[in-house]
Amino acid sequence: MQAISKVSSAASFFRCSRLTSQPCLRPCVRQLHLRKGLVSGLCVVLVYPFAFQDSALSPMSLPHCKLNWSVPCLADNYAYILHDEDTGTVGVVDPSEAVPVMDALQKHSRNLTYILNTHHHHDHTGGNLELKDRYGAKVIGSAVDRGRIPGIDIALKDGDKWIFAGHEVHVMETPGHTKGHISFYFPGARAIFTGDTLFSLSCGKLFEGTPEQMLASLQKIIALPDDTSIYCGHEYTLSNSKFALSIEPTNEVLQSYAAYVAELRDKKLPTIPTTMKMEKACNPFLRAWNTDIRRALGIPETADEAEALGIIRRAKDNFKA
Ligand SMILES: [Zn+2]
Repeated sequence: MQAISKVSSAASFFRCSRLTSQPCLRPCVRQLHLRKGLVSGLCVVLVYPFAFQDSALSPMSLPHCKLNWSVPCLADNYAYILHDEDTGTVGVVDPSEAVPVMDALQKHSRNLTYILNTHHHHDHTGGNLELKDRYGAKVIGSAVDRGRIPGIDIALKDGDKWIFAGHEVHVMETPGHTKGHISFYFPGARAIFTGDTLFSLSCGKLFEGTPEQMLASLQKIIALPDDTSIYCGHEYTLSNSKFALSIEPTNEVLQSYAAYVAELRDKKLPTIPTTMKMEKACNPFLRAWNTDIRRALGIPETADEAEALGIIRRAKDNFKA
């Protein structure tokens, strides 16, 4: 494939490569690009509402990808379009709205086979019914939320292995934000779609779950390999970094990452995907054991991690940047 050289405003992009990069605590732009590659033959398109600069998305050889879709989306949501080149199968993760996805599919003469939902919230499922009606796509979601996910066809539960065009997908129940929240892990690609459970430098609000449930969900996710790419549901990283720094100002990896995130957002570039290694080093919700964080928030040494996570979550809910 020829190098991608044109990126319009409100653009999306994708990268697909057999190459992998070594995990790095302060990833350079090129490494982030490489991490966007999923397994051989499977591409991911990030549906972004933001404008990108050509210079940051520097051309590179992408032997398995043929698409470059521009798809505006909601203000800070990320939807992800997956495309398996070998079979032509296309899926979308958490379509917050239908029209941009339909425009992208039409532009490239593609149909939509699957809609994958991490949870039932409207800003993750808002496009389901229109997309299903237009393409006959099957909606995949949690069995727990069978009654709340619009148009659900295939209900999955924790530990299920579902196949997307030959690519194994592990279903992980990750409640806490909602009771039926699931994450989709592609082990062959070392990539996980975490919806509103794990964000870069934060976790989702506890609308329907307890700190214990969220802690268990996060622990399940961070048991995955350190070089796993994390694709979450929102671009919240910059504001999350301000809170994280406020309670752990001496964390040098966090300082460096926060500066890098600010740089990216200044250029209207995405901060996603992040990696497991980075989140373990910087995300306060994965570091409830940390003595500096505990001291900053007055969390007793005797408090267990779930209790500490609950206090960190409440502090974040009340944080004004
Ligand atoms: Zn949500």
